[in-house]
Amino acid sequence: MHSRITFYGGIHEIGGNKFLVEDRGTRIFLDFGMQITKANQYYGEFLNPRNLNGMGDLFEFGLLPRLDGLYRQDYANHTKLKDSKEKEFDAAILTHAHMDHAAYLYYIRPDIPVYCSEATKLLMQGLQDTGSKEEYVVFKKNFQLYKNSKGEYSRGKGDDFRQDRTINVFDKPFSIDSIEIEPLAVDHSVPGVTGFVIHTSKSSIAYTADLRYHGRRAGDTQKFVDRCSESDIDFMLCEGTRVEENFSKTEKQVEQDVKDIVGTTKQLVVCAYPARDMDRLLSFYQAAKETDRDLVIDLKQAYMLKLFQQSDVWKNVFPQPDDRRLRIFIPRKSWGAD
Ligand SMILES: [Zn+2]
Repeated sequence: MHSRITFYGGIHEIGGNKFLVEDRGTRIFLDFGMQITKANQYYGEFLNPRNLNGMGDLFEFGLLPRLDGLYRQDYANHTKLKDSKEKEFDAAILTHAHMDHAAYLYYIRPDIPVYCSEATKLLMQGLQDTGSKEEYVVFKKNFQLYKNSKGEYSRGKGDDFRQDRTINVFDKPFSIDSIEIEPLAVDHSVPGVTGFVIHTSKSSIAYTADLRYHGRRAGDTQKFVDRCSESDIDFMLCEGTRVEENFSKTEKQVEQDVKDIVGTTKQLVVCAYPARDMDRLLSFYQAAKETDRDLVIDLKQAYMLKLFQQSDVWKNVFPQPDDRRLRIFIPRKSWGAD
């Protein structure tokens, strides 16, 4: 039986990683992300793929590979794809919860187990609970009819057909049939990013995930690199957006710069940063504390902080949402003076 890697995204582009590793009949995906640049050629903020033809639009534009036994059947039934009764893939293993690595999990069958770190699961939970259509941790079957109390058939909403996805949180090496996977934390702009050293029956693969040396957990990245050098790696899967740069401002330096700016500013300070970049939130939080100010966060960020309090590892890293230095901005809806 063959042993091979097929790249269904993530080549000559940033992210969109969907790497299929096959070994002795076992088939696992490393990440299942959205090809953001390619998707933006067809779609934008107000134009999304149509749901009515399942994944037809995504297949047509080459945004998803046509593979049997991989996709949710409620959608696959609306395309020309053969409706496989059995799943033909054994796992989707995620490096982290960024869109370009995890967003198309939405289209995967719910009986294919997902493997990820605790923080990745918490982030996906947060994205699902605060978003509109995300289905990272709970799968909602679409296009369903059900019999209502009058005995008539109505179109069921996703909420009537909920099913938890199987999400296995890893914290040590694990195997899927002949494939051994060693998860190793690396540092990136979201928490819980994991690189892998993978041993198949034929060869060993290192998958770096997105990693950096200028963040708060550079030591993790170094440990991953050290582990790779000890392992007998045949293939290294890596991407880089700043490979040619020879200077990076560290997150600690960003924090110091914020303190300097805020410390010399008398009035309101307005800042912006990616909502999921919790290390950047931490930089602004620390700077606020040391300059005797409060940091105002939005409801989604507050909810993320609340979720991370569930984790023994992360609850001491990030502040609680009711921390005395934090204020939560709740926008007024239809009521209120101004
Ligand atoms: Zn990333």
